[in-house]
Amino acid sequence: MAEETIFSKIIRKEIPAQILYQDELVTAFRDINPKAPTHILIVPNTLIPTVNDVEPEHELALGRLFTVARKLAADAGIAEDGYRLIMNCNRHGGQEVYHIHMHLVGGKSLGPLLCC
Ligand code: AMP
Repeated sequence: MAEETIFSKIIRKEIPAQILYQDELVTAFRDINPKAPTHILIVPNTLIPTVNDVEPEHELALGRLFTVARKLAADAGIAEDGYRLIMNCNRHGGQEVYHIHMHLVGGKSLGPLLCC
């Protein structure tokens, strides 16, 4: 059984966060340490620690991440200019919170994919 993270508490509204969207499958909230004018995290409500733990039964929730990203990008007015969707996996991927999440980052030109 994977250990819960702070994101489970946000999903259950046990700790504060700026929640922008929630349904039965996913929750989206503003990143506490934004790297761009728009920086939103979209997470499945069920705990999946990393991309390495993804199973076919998760496909519905993980697909929902994209439809919600599309909606939130439109709501933020960044759809036409563009944005970046990021999922980090484990240590080399720079993952800090072990509850799978999609970063929706935009509102400025983000430059090349990787900075090292
Ligand atoms: P990652 O490095 O992909 O695991 O990203 C984790 C992200 O979660 C970072 O961008 C953090 O700023 C963000 N984060 C951590 N704690 C919170 C929180 N309580 N509310 C909102 N975002 C958070």
